[in-house]
Amino acid sequence: MTALDETGHDVHDAAHGIGDATDTEGDAADDTAHRICRKGEQMWVRVRELHDVHDGGTMLMFGEVADGCLVRIHSRCLYGDVLHSEDCDCGPELDKAMDMIQAEGAGVLIYLEQEGRGHGLIAKARGLRFSELHGVDTFTSYRSLHYSPDCRSYERAAQALRRLVPTAGRPGPQSDGRGLQRVRLLTNNPEKVAAVAATGIAVERIPLITAPRSERARLYMESKRAYRGHLLPDFPTVPAGSDDAERPEPPRPVDLLTDGAPDLMPTGLPERSAETLCGSAERA
Ligand SMILES: [Zn+2]
Repeated sequence: MTALDETGHDVHDAAHGIGDATDTEGDAADDTAHRICRKGEQMWVRVRELHDVHDGGTMLMFGEVADGCLVRIHSRCLYGDVLHSEDCDCGPELDKAMDMIQAEGAGVLIYLEQEGRGHGLIAKARGLRFSELHGVDTFTSYRSLHYSPDCRSYERAAQALRRLVPTAGRPGPQSDGRGLQRVRLLTNNPEKVAAVAATGIAVERIPLITAPRSERARLYMESKRAYRGHLLPDFPTVPAGSDDAERPEPPRPVDLLTDGAPDLMPTGLPERSAETLCGSAERA
């Protein structure tokens, strides 16, 4: 049995950051089942929270979840997901993953609160500012600002999948009755594949390729491939006209982005190690 506090949160998870392998998420999400309309079609969805200090988020289960269903583990990107920024591929990835889940009528989206590759939006903004000032990619900017390049972990999400009991049909003959045995993972990130596979789930990787919508996005995708081993093709340069250079630069509210800006190291950010900022050197 799982101990829950007065808000229904798993006490074990709260105390340890990451839950153990007990069935803490069971079928307790059934009282959240409701319909959602997207692109003119309706789906049923259930929701669970994944409690974790660094890598928590929300698990959305669409339709009847079956063994071998489509799964997307997505890290929050406010600019891409919500504001439809054309500077990265996050928004199109999420949209395409949802299109595929919706086409099948079932699947799982795990939305992790891992903005800025786990460092948060302020760090991400500092990185973007540094990139604009110095003409470097965001991984280089993070390093210059003493952030680790990526401090996300997908262990918490993978555990939730391993405990997610299919609602469609019966578990396969190899099932130990503890959750999904197989998934089709929508990702280009080998770290996500490894994290899910480490729980014992058989993973079939489904590439999630979207064409970059700007030269800046193309360069970002290229840096993900170079620095983090993302399995992405070599996209050609985005044609002129879609390029940032072809667009008029917006007026600056104040003269902040100049080479002479005195405060490249953000105020209040002491020289700390990436391990301190991340909480775990292994996550880098
Ligand atoms: Zn993004």
